[in-house]
Amino acid sequence: MVNPFFANKFEQAVKEQGCPLCFMRQQAEAKYIRSIIADHVTDPASRVHIINSLGYCPRHSWQISEVEKQQDGESLGTGIIYEHLTKVILERLEDLRRYPKTLAHTNPLAKRIEQFLPARRPSAPLRTETPCRVCVMGAESDDSYVRWLLEGLADPEHDETRQLYQKSNRLCFDHLRQSLDKAVPNSAPGLEFLLEDTLVTLKNLDTDLRGHIAKYDWDKKSTPRSAAEQFSWLRAIYFFAGRREKDNPKPDFSSPD
Ligand SMILES: [Zn+2]
Ligand SMILES: [Zn+2]
Repeated sequence: MVNPFFANKFEQAVKEQGCPLCFMRQQAEAKYIRSIIADHVTDPASRVHIINSLGYCPRHSWQISEVEKQQDGESLGTGIIYEHLTKVILERLEDLRRYPKTLAHTNPLAKRIEQFLPARRPSAPLRTETPCRVCVMGAESDDSYVRWLLEGLADPEHDETRQLYQKSNRLCFDHLRQSLDKAVPNSAPGLEFLLEDTLVTLKNLDTDLRGHIAKYDWDKKSTPRSAAEQFSWLRAIYFFAGRREKDNPKPDFSSPD
């Protein structure tokens, strides 16, 4: 039985360029970002997350500022978030002001003792182990989507998911690895289908890449490349790097069988 929530989103995702699960994750992250701007800028619990992770990762920081600008035509929420964060960093920098002097005047005994203590980077107060909240939400939705895809692919009696999947540009490397890690006994036939399909897809890609490379030889320069060969390098990037956030160039994914 295919999860109906998943089935609906998956049907749209297979029409997009690149890995359908990358698209679904990007949609989930964008939805969460819109909710941060709309409801969570002044919410204390969200603020704790933001401070613990020292803001968002570079990708999502840019996205938050762009989404607010597009959505509301303003930057009030972004301003409020970063005003708080700037204040936190200022306090920590005040504490770090003494650090350069200690570099020049460390007493030799303290230096010898330090060798046996756990190393602490001077920049530690400006770093965090807590990941970006949008990345965390994205990973959570990824987890569900990967499991639902495997469940959908596991049922050969109702093969709508298999048919839809074969219309897609196929999973990227990262989502393929996640599928291996998240398969359970019930979804094993889904993983088996996915691996067989990936083997065929990558063998075709390899043939096209070889055709693409061979036509750089001086004696083959006048031989035209097929569309599949011409875009083979781009298909390889889509597989290894996944889908991009915004503009995704249109390669010809078809390959000779
Ligand atoms: Zn992907
Ligand atoms: Zn992030």
